[in-house]
Amino acid sequence: MAEISSVHEKYMKEALRQAKKAFWLGEVPIGCVIVYEGRIIGRGYNRRNTDHSTLSHAEITAIRKASKALGDWRLEGCTMYVTLEPCQMCAGAVVQARIPELVIGCKSPKSGCAGSVMDLLNNPEFNHQVRVTEGILAEESADILKKFFAELRERNRAEKQARAAQGEDETDGEYPESGT
Ligand SMILES: [Zn+2]
Repeated sequence: MAEISSVHEKYMKEALRQAKKAFWLGEVPIGCVIVYEGRIIGRGYNRRNTDHSTLSHAEITAIRKASKALGDWRLEGCTMYVTLEPCQMCAGAVVQARIPELVIGCKSPKSGCAGSVMDLLNNPEFNHQVRVTEGILAEESADILKKFFAELRERNRAEKQARAAQGEDETDGEYPESGT
């Protein structure tokens, strides 16, 4: 059991490295890797704003690359590691790709579809179910998101202040004119 969790941590660290790439791009930092027979065959990180595409979630990119590597849309025998609980699109893609195992960093209470909002991965009505392990490097996975949103709030506040200051300057400039 300890061995399994250390393997999980090893690959979740790789997923976190992908999340950091998103972070440096100014994207919500979510990262993903797909492992087959002890080898990473697909990597991805969130690039939704950069690519102007809702399809540019970390998991979708990793699935596309893994499918290319295996030459098969079926990712049987693969394990996906993702830093944040997948959304409905990505959880759906995991089922569609027949991925048997998913390892999650932290939960996403408002959008996660591996049990938070709903569970798309273990619905007996579908023809495929996914074995899910969660809470692997959960703190690190959540911390990078918290850091991102804290910096975003700070940036928005600074921009708002800058705009307000600019607005004041313009007003200051107008008063003497309107007085003459
Ligand atoms: Zn997604």
